Amino acid sequence: MTTREPEWTEQDRAEVLALALYRRELCPCGCGHRYADTTSPEATGPRFAAERVVCRARLALMEAQQAAETSDPAIAGSRLWLVRMVGR
Ligand SMILES: [Zn+2]
Repeated sequence: MTTREPEWTEQDRAEVLALALYRRELCPCGCGHRYADTTSPEATGPRFAAERVVCRARLALMEAQQAAETSDPAIAGSRLWLVRMVGR
């Protein structure tokens, strides 16, 4: 009889459960804030301010995809893109 280590430790299970509980509290719109905060009354809840930043990795990806445009949907649909950090 072979005894194997369990694939999931108690710690793993506890961390996955904690992550699930955390994610369940988040607003479903994708803003990254807690649902209780984003849907709280305006008079008593926290205030929010939006600002814009550019993800330069995403920008590099978009520029590379634009430069590599093709009219062949098979080629376009089968490309796998990745963005590497190539220096500071
Ligand atoms: Zn939201």
